[in-house]
Amino acid sequence: AHIFKSGWTGVNERTFIAVKPDGVQRRLVGEIVRRFEKKGFKLVALKLVMASEELLKEHYWHLRNRPFYNRLVRDMSSGPIVAMVWQGLDVIKTGRKMMGETSPSDSMPATIRGDNGVEVRRNAIHGSDSVESAHREISLWFQETELSSWDVCSTNWIYS
Ligand code: UDP
Repeated sequence: AHIFKSGWTGVNERTFIAVKPDGVQRRLVGEIVRRFEKKGFKLVALKLVMASEELLKEHYWHLRNRPFYNRLVRDMSSGPIVAMVWQGLDVIKTGRKMMGETSPSDSMPATIRGDNGVEVRRNAIHGSDSVESAHREISLWFQETELSSWDVCSTNWIYS
C-alpha cells in the first residue's frame, strides 16, 4: 500500500535512510544524522527498531535471488536499526552520493561508507535508490502518523 505518494517532489522529495545494526553498534547514529542535518535536509521521521525477519525480507525482496540474501536478512536482524525519513530537493540522489558505493572499499573518502568501514557486509547505512523504492520503503517502515510535517526556521537560507 503506497499510501502517501502524492506531492513528494521538488523540495518535498523524501527518502528512507537507515543506520544498519553494524552502524548502530559502531556508534555512527549521531555522525550519520549530523551529515544529513548539516547538508540542509529535513528530518521527517526517526525511530530505533528491531526489524522483523518478515519486514526485512520484504525490504530486500528485489535481492531474493542473490547469494547473500539470507545472510543479509540475518545481518539486518542482528540488532536495532535507526530508521529515518529525510526530506529535501534531490534528497534521494544526494543521499546516495553521501553514502558512497555499496562496498566501503569502493567508496570515496568523505562519503559515509568511505569514511566508516571496509567491508560490504558492514557498510553502516541504507538509503533508497529511486523515487519508487523511497515510496515503497517509507510505506513499509513507517505509518503515516509517524511522519511529522513541520517548518524548519532556516528554510529560506537553504532554498532561495
Ligand atoms: N550486500 C552484501 N554482499 C554483497 C552485496 C551487497 O552483503 O555482495 C549487502 C550490503 O549490506 C548492501 C545490501 O546487501 O548494502 C543491499 O545491496 P544493494 O546492492 O541494494 O546495495 P546498496 O543499495 O545498499 O548500496
